[in-house]
Amino acid sequence: MGDAVGEGIFDDWHEECGVFGVWHHRNAAVVTNYALYALQHRGQESAGIAVVDGAHMRHHRGMGLVSEVFSADDIAALPGHAAAGHVRYSTTGSSTLANAQPQIFAFRQGNLAIAHNGNLINAEQLHSELEQQGSIFQSTSDTEVVAHLIARAGSADFIESVRTSMSSIQGGYAMVLLTNERLIALRDPNGLRPMALGQLDGAFVVASETCAFDTIGATFVRDIEPGELLVIDDAGLRSERFASPQRKALCTFEYIYFARPDSDIDGINVHMLRKQLGRVLARSCPAEADLVIGVPDSSISAAMGYAEESGIPYEIGLIKNRYIGRTFIQPSQQQRQSGVALKFNAVRKVMEGKRVVLVDDSIVRGTTSARLVSLVRSAGATAVHMRISSPPVTHPCFYGIDTSDRTKLIAAQLSVPGIQQLIGADTLGYLTEEQLLSAFGVTDMQHHSFCNACFTGRYPTALYQSMEKDMLEKTRKLVLR
Ligand code: SF4
Repeated sequence: MGDAVGEGIFDDWHEECGVFGVWHHRNAAVVTNYALYALQHRGQESAGIAVVDGAHMRHHRGMGLVSEVFSADDIAALPGHAAAGHVRYSTTGSSTLANAQPQIFAFRQGNLAIAHNGNLINAEQLHSELEQQGSIFQSTSDTEVVAHLIARAGSADFIESVRTSMSSIQGGYAMVLLTNERLIALRDPNGLRPMALGQLDGAFVVASETCAFDTIGATFVRDIEPGELLVIDDAGLRSERFASPQRKALCTFEYIYFARPDSDIDGINVHMLRKQLGRVLARSCPAEADLVIGVPDSSISAAMGYAEESGIPYEIGLIKNRYIGRTFIQPSQQQRQSGVALKFNAVRKVMEGKRVVLVDDSIVRGTTSARLVSLVRSAGATAVHMRISSPPVTHPCFYGIDTSDRTKLIAAQLSVPGIQQLIGADTLGYLTEEQLLSAFGVTDMQHHSFCNACFTGRYPTALYQSMEKDMLEKTRKLVLR
């Protein structure tokens, strides 16, 4: 994303978070700062870096973009050889500085910084149990639940405490834990959220996406395995397991929308995969049209694939204004609506008198799509054929993506013709689940390694009763006011 990801649906989905860690580098804070710039698309609400120098842990966190949170002086005030960094969009917990990460905890074994991407679906249950046992919480983020579990695990061996704690956590997550002695990186047993290992100047680095490695000049080593716990310290790197591998279920939306096109996740390049989705879409949902345009930036690759496969010329028909904030950060619907008008403009000279295929990556509530179709028409297009490079989103995500509840998901309420009418398109075409997975090379629909739950309702993990966004906040808000 950079600003690459998913503005096509920017008022409907919120990204998750980006995490980064480095051990044994003389400029740990500088490297982390650059890496967070590369991961900025994964969260724009807050950013933070924690560093250790062998004796002390220091941190700096703030609300806003990485460029707003860190000045050169802020980075200079973070000396150390190891760091954990985070960019955040809230999934559980509200958007406040108290919930910004890395969160720092002092306990009997020293200081602990946690940077976390994803969502713990049994956080509320664990939170209640811990409170009944006497824990006092300072934030509404489920990251704090992890810290309490580790502190209470009772083992003198920190790694053992982490392993024990993680075994009681359910959900989709990638996490970096930093202490004075080590950096720990781990990925949930289903591999729902991505995390990769790299090397830089002899130091080990971990990141949510490989684009961070390219930015800092690191070499990709490998993806971290589902259920794997990597311990990086002065003795080097060792791999352990904190859970036996479950059915691998990597989030397909990482490819469709969230990740940056220049990232490779589990060996698949995001741009190339999106292009393949566009090709499949062109075969399954052809259109009589004069040109193909994509909604900047996340749908450009799919639009290029559609154009290549169909033989219809690709054009740049929508221009995004890159100098306004991401509109979904603003809280009110009214602000979001004016933000859409500010954000996109149509190229009239390209569209005038043309039949247009408008490619977007998904439709969540339908409001953005309706505005984009209207924008293309008002620029002179004689027909707008909307093509979506994923299946209809019918179910919410509980693994770190802040989707609407089912009542607000338009595909859970309306048929495809109903949605077409609502958004004002001449025709509307989606991929099916089979077509989506075929782009990944999947041939066996029963046995594959991806999560598709927001399209199918088939969740890869057990679900818990109270998994709403802000669930912790709702139950704790009186305490925190
Ligand atoms: S439910 Fe959808 S968005 Fe959530 S992890 Fe699964 S595929 Fe990704």
